[in-house]
Amino acid sequence: MNELLPTSTAGSLPKPSWLAEPEKLWSPWKLEGEELVAGKQDALRLAVEDQRQAGITIVGDGEQTRQHFVTTFIEHLSGVDFEKRETVRIRNRYDASVPTVVGAVSRPKPVFVDDAAYLRAQTDQPIKWTLPGPMTMIDTLYDAHYKSREKLAWEFAQILNQEARELEAAGVDIIQFDEPAFNVFFDEANDWGIATLEKAAEGLKCETAVHICYGYGIKANTDWKKTLGSEWRQYEETFPNLQKSKIDIISLECHHSHVPMDLIELIRGKKVMVGAIDVASETVETPEEVADTLRKALQFVDADKLYPSTNCGMAPLSRGIARGKLNALGAGAAIVRKELADA
Ligand SMILES: [Zn+2]
Repeated sequence: MNELLPTSTAGSLPKPSWLAEPEKLWSPWKLEGEELVAGKQDALRLAVEDQRQAGITIVGDGEQTRQHFVTTFIEHLSGVDFEKRETVRIRNRYDASVPTVVGAVSRPKPVFVDDAAYLRAQTDQPIKWTLPGPMTMIDTLYDAHYKSREKLAWEFAQILNQEARELEAAGVDIIQFDEPAFNVFFDEANDWGIATLEKAAEGLKCETAVHICYGYGIKANTDWKKTLGSEWRQYEETFPNLQKSKIDIISLECHHSHVPMDLIELIRGKKVMVGAIDVASETVETPEEVADTLRKALQFVDADKLYPSTNCGMAPLSRGIARGKLNALGAGAAIVRKELADA
């Protein structure tokens, strides 16, 4: 990146109310057919414009073309039956009715590549595209075929790698894999989760990131967080192996969370997307609060490796609040950028 402290969001932004019901996950589309295609593109352009106005450096699509960060990708694969549903416990936290893996999984055609090319055409800024990570994908399914979480994860890693290579060819600068499951299944993450993630990123020349968080600000997540005690040390379990991995950037939650900031030291040498915006609160941060979080992070990450970001996606928030938080992120990073330039 040319600019110091390049800002970006973790991924999702709220959708306009004419496209999908606001402040809700898995919200159904309000349009159909060609109108839906055009509506998604209009929403993507608005998301890009909001990021431009906020001075965000690395632009994303705000995930405007997908209903959910994991499900929409899986919907495009064969081998998964969305009619055949089973109730499973997601990330050991909440029950959800999920589709069933009924046969060998494969990707008959590209999933997000046209959307990424559309985003590429909207901006000259660097762009980032998010995909679910293999372990988070298997955790959102009932597997009646492979009957092995590890085996299914390797299959998904292969599919993700096909998609990622085509996204790179479409002009994506950073491909980010979302792996909130790394904060729950530590043994599996270390045994094969990080290895499958590296497989998903294999051979890419663009930068790669992994986003590990404590989830959206929805009730199941906030209830879970109450059980984690006063210090959240989950990152400690996977960071040593992630530090040794081939992934370039680690995206983590910082602001207002109970994560001790010195855990960032465990990934010294990596670029770090530091969450300086709390997505579980409707209070809009001040630029000074954002700057303060970034200054603290600078104790553990070199300035040229600090990427200010949000703790997680902002999909469930209102558009006004999300826009306020975007502006605070841009302005807060600008304060610290100036301090570094003056120093
Ligand atoms: Zn997240």
